[in-house]
Amino acid sequence: MSKKLLLDKIGIEGIKGFEVYRREGGYKSVEKAFKMQPNDIVEEVKKSGLRGRGGAGFPTGMKWSFLAKPEGVARYLVCNADESEPGTFKDRYLMEFIPHLLIEGMIVSSYTLGSKISYIYIRGEYDWITDILENAIEEARQNGFLGKNILDSGFDCEIYVHRGAGAYICGEETALLESLEGKRGLPRIKPPFPAVKGVWGSPTVVNNVETIAAIVPIINEGGEAYSKIGVGRSTGTKLISACGNINKPGVYEIDMTISVEEFIFSDEYCGGIPNGKRLKACIPGGSSVPILPANLLLKTAKGETRLMNYESLADGGFVTGSMMGSGGFIVLDEDQCVVRHTLTLARFYHHESCGQCSPCREGTGWMEKVFTKIENGKGEMKDIDLLWDIQRKIEGNTICPLGDAAAWPVAAAIRHFRDEFEWHVLNPEECLKRNYGLAHY
Ligand code: NAD
Ligand code: SF4
Repeated sequence: MSKKLLLDKIGIEGIKGFEVYRREGGYKSVEKAFKMQPNDIVEEVKKSGLRGRGGAGFPTGMKWSFLAKPEGVARYLVCNADESEPGTFKDRYLMEFIPHLLIEGMIVSSYTLGSKISYIYIRGEYDWITDILENAIEEARQNGFLGKNILDSGFDCEIYVHRGAGAYICGEETALLESLEGKRGLPRIKPPFPAVKGVWGSPTVVNNVETIAAIVPIINEGGEAYSKIGVGRSTGTKLISACGNINKPGVYEIDMTISVEEFIFSDEYCGGIPNGKRLKACIPGGSSVPILPANLLLKTAKGETRLMNYESLADGGFVTGSMMGSGGFIVLDEDQCVVRHTLTLARFYHHESCGQCSPCREGTGWMEKVFTKIENGKGEMKDIDLLWDIQRKIEGNTICPLGDAAAWPVAAAIRHFRDEFEWHVLNPEECLKRNYGLAHY
């Protein structure tokens, strides 16, 4: 198998359309899957070691095998395309430039799970991609890959694209299901997991765009071949969206054996930091995961080379490690202010909190206020400890992971860059001089 499994065909003229996609080997996995029993496909996916690409990294084959199958009750597949994590834009790229790959993966996954009606819940801001997907769905239908009795298999399937309305929380799977049902996107308490009680109260699998697309090469080449790419429990390839202070922002498909250093500095990927600046820090997996300073980013606390994979990025837990998360890789150079950066995130999470749980609702707003005070040169040393206390009280005490996502970046910023917070307190005039028009408290 080649290193690129998902983006290999991007660049072929006309690949967005059915005809060229099919000519290039597209939809072969559907033909192959229909000759297999659904349970055997689940086993192939288990063998592949594929882990959910939305952020949590939960084993996909295991999730599929958890799907309840009560007699006479419909089952659903819902693709989570509500990509909203700051720094993350890899699903957008895939859907925009090779939409049929997602539709192909949706058909195979729907067949495997017994979902006759499947949904793609897409972020509302991706309106032009909704059109691209709807066009691809229509082309697939016209060519006999959707609708009734697909390829004479006896399997019927329809895919509907449902647009969100701009709320980050609707990317959380249970809030997404509420929204899909036409209600306000409030996360549900889990368990029950969607695999048991999902949309319309029925068993539902929610998978990320990239996860569903990865089903195509797994079926084409076999789970074992897929599992041989990568290292340890980080099998297959991973899409990374890279942004921030790098020469070549964009989406890269990586083999998870490469080092963080190679990813940032080699010309094949990010191409280094502009203007000869030094690397200061990086958020390796989207805004919800802990920031890592340069020294812990390139090497783990044990002195080992840090690799771009689930295990290596998490090595050291949250004290000296971080997470692969959603694959949103944000690089900060030496000129960036971590306090200011974390304030931006605190403001974001406060704005996006749904307000159901008090630690998140109150804590995110409180953190934003304290951060703003420090950034505006009005902070006191005790405010740094206050921030630490607030984030501690949010973490683990909320219905959904947004609470943790708001807390972890703050904890990591204080843990690794406390001196920068103290600098703000000790240099109020300097803070005011570089005040960018923030609200005063
Ligand atoms: P999670 O760990 O709660 O769940 C992972 C998945 O496994 C879910 O689908 C869940 O239903 C399933 N699952 C777990 N245990 C199960 C069980 N016992 N039975 C059946 N199913 C089970 O995490 P999550 O809430 O899905 O995701 C959190 C992550 O999402 C964060 O770490 C963050 O990185 C990421 N995230 C991504 C984006 C994005 O735009 N891609 C946005 C925000 C957050
Ligand atoms: Fe809502 Fe925040 Fe509670 Fe999640 S943690 S349910 S976003 S209040």
